[in-house]
Amino acid sequence: MRSFLRRTVGPLFLMLATPIALGVFWLTASEYDGSLMRFFTEMSASRLVEVWPRPSLAAIEIIGIFAIVEALLMQLLPGKTLLGPVTPTGNQPTYKLNGPLAFVTTLGLFVGASWGLHLFSPGVVYDHFGEILTTVTLFALCFCLFLYLKGVYFPSSSDHGRSGNFIFDFFWGVELHPHFGKFNVKQYANCRLGMMGWPVIIVSFLGKQQALYGEVSNSMWVCTAVQLVYIAKFFYWEGGYFHTLDIMHDRFGYYICWGVLCWITGVYTLTSLYLVNHPIHLHPVYAVACFALGVISIWINYDADAQRQRLRRTGGNTTIWGKKPETILAKYKTSDGVERENLLLVSGWWGVARHFHYVPEIMLSVAWALPALFHNFLPWFYVVYLSILLFDRSGRDDKRCSAKYGESWKEYCKRVPYRIIPGIY
Ligand code: NDP
Repeated sequence: MRSFLRRTVGPLFLMLATPIALGVFWLTASEYDGSLMRFFTEMSASRLVEVWPRPSLAAIEIIGIFAIVEALLMQLLPGKTLLGPVTPTGNQPTYKLNGPLAFVTTLGLFVGASWGLHLFSPGVVYDHFGEILTTVTLFALCFCLFLYLKGVYFPSSSDHGRSGNFIFDFFWGVELHPHFGKFNVKQYANCRLGMMGWPVIIVSFLGKQQALYGEVSNSMWVCTAVQLVYIAKFFYWEGGYFHTLDIMHDRFGYYICWGVLCWITGVYTLTSLYLVNHPIHLHPVYAVACFALGVISIWINYDADAQRQRLRRTGGNTTIWGKKPETILAKYKTSDGVERENLLLVSGWWGVARHFHYVPEIMLSVAWALPALFHNFLPWFYVVYLSILLFDRSGRDDKRCSAKYGESWKEYCKRVPYRIIPGIY
């Protein structure tokens, strides 16, 4: 029964609810002044059918141009090739490391073509955002089906598998690292479409506020700046991202693929969307404090990720917080029967709690929600969603590491007993 709920009912519910949620958020922001309460009390069924965003040619054009530009940038811009972590069946996928250059080029092209050359209005994404959400949702659903069939009939490597339950396999995915020839589909979708679309969207939202009110409020500046610093950090650290659960563990189905293409597009950008029509003027001290909270949180989160990766890269020959790191040598077997080993860090941020880095990850999202103040829930939705996601993720990761490392993981849990918040959880 538990398995039926987790593998069939849960995924089915999520696949029905999440696309609807995107439409509801967009309508709430554009028609109901960002008030979910007003949306649910004032919206009628007939009005919903009338205003629900439809796909459009303009949306197809915007998404198509963006997708082609990003594919070209990923392929053509110079960058080293990185060998990713060994997969459970002993493969090592490759990645092109040119994220920072692609990030700067993408924003440069958007700002240059809109503000500079006036080829289109900076608010173009906002003007078609509802249509874009529906179009990208439909495209992503078709793409997930395509990936399912590709995984079943033409898998790119031995890293694929099925449970036999179509709903779960569609949701979770069949392949871990689908490729088209040498083209890494997961890197392209996660990093170059989802994560790269996000900055373009929020900069367009900023442009829309400027067009509507003749100026950009300091709340919009702070909110946009914190997000841009976070996204810039993501691309600077892109090589590290290939060592995270999204890439190493989660197969490429609806959960990740639809998630990065649609959920990032519609939910991670919500605070900025809300601010377009709420040009809040903050006290300068409050604005600076929000920005500082964001930057400090981003730094701590980055430092925690970097400590773990530096430890593995140097085989423990490094310093963490000025001292030789405390470690556990954890042995494990890949499914090809080969015995391998990894170092687990027991000092630095990884000695504070086993997933302490999720605290600054949540705090930085608080930092970009604070400028929207507290009148509505919509700009805070991402903070709540992220907290639930990360608390659930810490449990999933503990389970996975326990199965992988056995006694060594038990020892780590003994030495670092708390999962996220020391002394509490
Ligand atoms: P983590 O950074 O938590 O890494 C988990 C993996 O690290 C484990 O599976 C294990 O992998 C290894 N590991 C665990 N404990 C140790 C240790 N003590 N020493 C060394 N290695 C260890 O993965 P996430 O993917 O959850 O997070 C990566 C980044 O992405 C974080 O900064 C996080 O905040 C962020 N994030 C952001 C989200 C968002 O939507 N904004 C969502 C999720 C994450 P192995 O098998 O290699 O041992």
